[in-house]
This record gives sequence, structure tokens and C-alpha cells, in this order.
Amino acid sequence: MRRRRFFSHAGGALTVGAAALGLPGLSSLARAKRGRRPTVPYAETRERNRAMFEGMFELEVPLLDFDWIVVHHTAAEYATLEGIDRYHRNHFGDPLGAEYHFVINNGKKRPVEKPIGLVEQARWRHQEWAAHLFHPERAPGSCAICLIGNFEKRALPEEMLDACVALTRALMKRFKIPVERVTTHRGVDRRLTQCPGKHFPREEFLRRLSEAAPAETAEAVEAEPADEAP
Ligand SMILES: [Zn+2]
Repeated sequence: MRRRRFFSHAGGALTVGAAALGLPGLSSLARAKRGRRPTVPYAETRERNRAMFEGMFELEVPLLDFDWIVVHHTAAEYATLEGIDRYHRNHFGDPLGAEYHFVINNGKKRPVEKPIGLVEQARWRHQEWAAHLFHPERAPGSCAICLIGNFEKRALPEEMLDACVALTRALMKRFKIPVERVTTHRGVDRRLTQCPGKHFPREEFLRRLSEAAPAETAEAVEAEPADEAP
């Protein structure tokens, strides 16, 4: 694989990534300390995502020329980016770890730090192609988004779908990718995989991508100025 850049230790790179995403609000941390079930309001997470989308194209490395967007799931409910990174580094011998450009959390593991719907940059930070398809030639130049969870077994939470739509829209806009080049892993590899699961609402996802972005933003976050739509 062609590499533009190596990090001497991946831990450092991950720390920078986490810091760039910002920390959970103090109120969330306080709730967690008191021992209650920690929850972060999705409105807060949506703001963190929005801030991340605004900065994500400003990298020290040149952006790849993405032409497709492909959605996956982990099929594991309690996964984290760090765990996926470790697994893919060991499994594929790839020093850059996770073979996805982004992950979207389900809030099950480390729910305060990684609340439901939180988008994290994975391989995106390195701007390297990911080995995420059996038939990459069917979706050349693809950007891989991975939903954490098993959507063969359960429905996709609305927060995760909302985050997936917002992230995909930001990528479509930047790289001028039409909705016809947004698909799922199964959409590319067909019978070789169920990913991202039979409960992934493919039709609704594609329909929402086709809708005008400002309308959805105004509906979901009423207090938001409409000109901030990603
Ligand atoms: Zn997949």
C-alpha cells in the first residue's frame, strides 16, 4: 500500500484526534461521577459533530479524491475506534489501523466520552485509502463510514442515522459526490456480506440525502442558525 506518512507511535496520533474532537461537557462528567447512568444529550453531540465537520477538511496531509461513500457496521455492539484500530492493525498488519475513514458511536461503550451519534475520524486523519471492500473496483475511491453496532439484529437508532446523514452530506458537498455514488457495503459486495445489516434503513438514508439540508437542520435543532448546515 502506498503511504504518504507514518506516525512513530499511533497513540500520539489518536490523542491528537480525541483532543481535536473536544471533550464532553462538564455536566455530563458530573452525572457520570455521581454514578448515574451517564447520558449525553444528542443536541450536544450534534454540536460536537458539526464543529468537527467544519474543521475536518483542514488537515496537514493533502485530501484524497474521494468518489464514493460506503456505509458499514461493526457487527459488534461494544466496539470503539481504539479497539477497531488495534484489531485491524493486528489482523491486516496495517500500521494505520482502522480500515474505515470514520466511525459513528452507539453510546454503549464509554458512553460519556463516546456518546450515541458521535462521529470520530479514523483513517480520515491520514488520508489513506481503506481496505474495506471485497470488490473495491465497484466503488473506486471510496470513503468508508462505519456504524458501531449490529444492525442485522436491531434497528439503527435515530441519532446514529442523523449523524450518518450529516457526515455523508458534508462529504458529498466537499467532493461533489452524487447520491448515486453513496451506498452500503452490501450494495457493493452483494451476496458476500450482510453489512451494514438488514435493519439499516437504506431507502430512508438515501431519501434524506436527497432532501435539502437546511430544512432538516432547522427541524432537528430549532435553536440553530440555519446558515450552519453542513
Ligand atoms: Zn462492511
